[in-house]
Amino acid sequence: MKRKTSKINNVIKIKMIKAIVIVFIVFASIDNKVNAQIFAPAVKQFIEINDSVVVISNVKIIDGTGGPVQNNRDVLFVKNKIHSIGATGKIAIPKDAKVIDGTGKTLIPGLIMLHEHLFYAKPFEGDYKAVHMTYMFPKMYLAGGVTTMRTAGSIEANADLNVKNLIVQGKMTGPKMDVSTPHIEREGFIPQIQSLYGNESPERMVDYWVDKGVTSVKLYNNITKDDMTRVIKAAHARKIKVTGHLCSITYREAADLGMDNLEHTFTACSDFMKDKKEDQCDNGKLRQSLLSLNENSVELKELMQYLIKKKITLTYTPVVFEPFTNREVIPGGGIDALAPFLKEQIQGIYNSRINKDSLSIQFFKAEMKRVKQFYNMGGKLIVGTDPTGPGRTIAGYANQHLIELLIETSFTLTEAIKLSTLNGAKYLEIEKETGTVEVGKTADLVLIDGDLEKDISNIRKMEIVFKEGVGFSSKKIFDSVKGKVGLD
Ligand SMILES: [Zn+2]
Repeated sequence: MKRKTSKINNVIKIKMIKAIVIVFIVFASIDNKVNAQIFAPAVKQFIEINDSVVVISNVKIIDGTGGPVQNNRDVLFVKNKIHSIGATGKIAIPKDAKVIDGTGKTLIPGLIMLHEHLFYAKPFEGDYKAVHMTYMFPKMYLAGGVTTMRTAGSIEANADLNVKNLIVQGKMTGPKMDVSTPHIEREGFIPQIQSLYGNESPERMVDYWVDKGVTSVKLYNNITKDDMTRVIKAAHARKIKVTGHLCSITYREAADLGMDNLEHTFTACSDFMKDKKEDQCDNGKLRQSLLSLNENSVELKELMQYLIKKKITLTYTPVVFEPFTNREVIPGGGIDALAPFLKEQIQGIYNSRINKDSLSIQFFKAEMKRVKQFYNMGGKLIVGTDPTGPGRTIAGYANQHLIELLIETSFTLTEAIKLSTLNGAKYLEIEKETGTVEVGKTADLVLIDGDLEKDISNIRKMEIVFKEGVGFSSKKIFDSVKGKVGLD
């Protein structure tokens, strides 16, 4: 008996020595306390955590895979990679690790949102004027938990590309960016958006922007089927995916022409317009056709099946369609971010629309049902905010509120997080690097000061947003933009 015990002790000793050696080998190469990237002072002011070895202890994890919520976990990341995850107290922690107490907090992957813009839609003569938010929006997206975003259309594509590069260089604060082309659009209702004229070559436009570094293509309301055919061919030849906010072309036609992604789920679907003219957009009639569409429509179900068969991804953007009645002026609570004159203007618009938006409420709720149906049938779904519309959707705040609206759409919490993280990563084909809280992935993480399972509005209490292991203070960033959104 005694001999047996000592034998076991010896085995344990050998195992411990092995473990210590492994830990030593893993951590011996880490000689600097700080991450290697150099940040400009403008960025540094928002950095809270910049240690190369960080552990978040005793935290709740919603890992983005859609799997069960994990309680009481320790997450260790070394430099920019997640090194180990285990039950609290059960993983090896290097002595000099920066320890963050995660008790009562929730850790989710950094959000990956795919219908974003670097411009604000300032109300203008019944419509909007795009004001480029070169300095404000990138950091606001990060403060709102977004570590990777795709711009779905650019008003100043050069500026967007430059911002992306300045962020990579540590000179600006913001997420990793997939920059799209300017909206490829013919004459329409927003003069800032038209980019294609007469016989101009759509292929040349695609090549021009891909050569400059754009990695996505965005089509808009008034393009023709010929434009779409040629753009898709040119983009796919460069291994670039094409999305579109359609109107002139039906979803079925778009599926046949080989689109990868359609924006705004079914709210831009012209397939149910009775007298739809080929290549013609009529947004009013389109909306009307959706309002009179029966939720049990066989045609709708068949269209969904067709889109699924064609492997088309739909982007769900509920924030920009949010009605007024019983809702916030700025969804997500960002009203103080607005420049004072805009705060007044938007409040005025809000006051004039409240309790007069029963059709918008109907439209909004019907879309929630359609989206859930599409998802339940196996449809591919990604999400984004689209900061346009009547100027109520603003970067960061809208991204947080989107998670709340996914719950309202009746997705479960783990589904909502997966839609906002892993699904976006898969679409962008970066899921091997980011999009979940798993060992080996990049430390793109959001630490929330509260329990998301108890109350979804805790999503607004983001404490630290880690991008590639560097922790940014969400509050410091949001505080820095107060009163500035909407200024040129
Ligand atoms: Zn948009």
